[in-house]
Amino acid sequence: DTTGTTEDTPADLVPQVPVIVELLAALGIARVGAAGYEADDVIGTLVERTAGRRPVEVVTGDRDLFQLVDDARGVRVLYTARGGVRDADVVDEAFLTQKYRVADGTAYGQMSILRGDTSDGLPGVAGIGEKTAADLIERFGTVEAVRVAAADPSSPGLTPARRRRIVEAADYLDVAGDVVLVRRGLELPAAEPLLPIPDAAAFAAFADEVGLGTTADRVLAALTVTT
Ligand code: MN
Ligand code: MN
Repeated sequence: DTTGTTEDTPADLVPQVPVIVELLAALGIARVGAAGYEADDVIGTLVERTAGRRPVEVVTGDRDLFQLVDDARGVRVLYTARGGVRDADVVDEAFLTQKYRVADGTAYGQMSILRGDTSDGLPGVAGIGEKTAADLIERFGTVEAVRVAAADPSSPGLTPARRRRIVEAADYLDVAGDVVLVRRGLELPAAEPLLPIPDAAAFAAFADEVGLGTTADRVLAALTVTT
């Protein structure tokens, strides 16, 4: 679409899904989804239900989920895109401030709307990069407040060029929040987040079928809980 706000499913991903489902079932790893929503939205909902009652760590390589970071409610992200699981970045509010110059997860989400994200096919506001986006959110608080200021020539704090860019991006900004912001209130099917209990026979058959080799042994070793 012309606003660039549709997140398409990569064609390569589709045939992998049933394989992933089979693998998780064989390993006894709980899985939950909601038709019509991204995994991000499911994760956001699960975090929302738990935050403030016990510490929450979201392990992900997707920086969209930085939106969930909330020091006061004990939510942080272990970001695996650079160092993998072994050397994940611990993303809390100090990390967001240092790396993106936004105060918290909420501000990160607002900044992301302005910046866009090329890995999601989201163009952002033309001519507004990450630093400017962060400056604007620091100054105005929300995308909505930036837009109100941009529409009012007497409002201080915006250069003419930035004002024009924000106004010209109206079609994008009208809908970008729906795509960028992680939902937190989905109806989800019940899922018990219990420790995985692999089905040895099913997993052996799966590993053989897809040729996992010694990876299969490593997965089982990693999931084996000794008490
Ligand atoms: Mn995402
Ligand atoms: Mn995304």
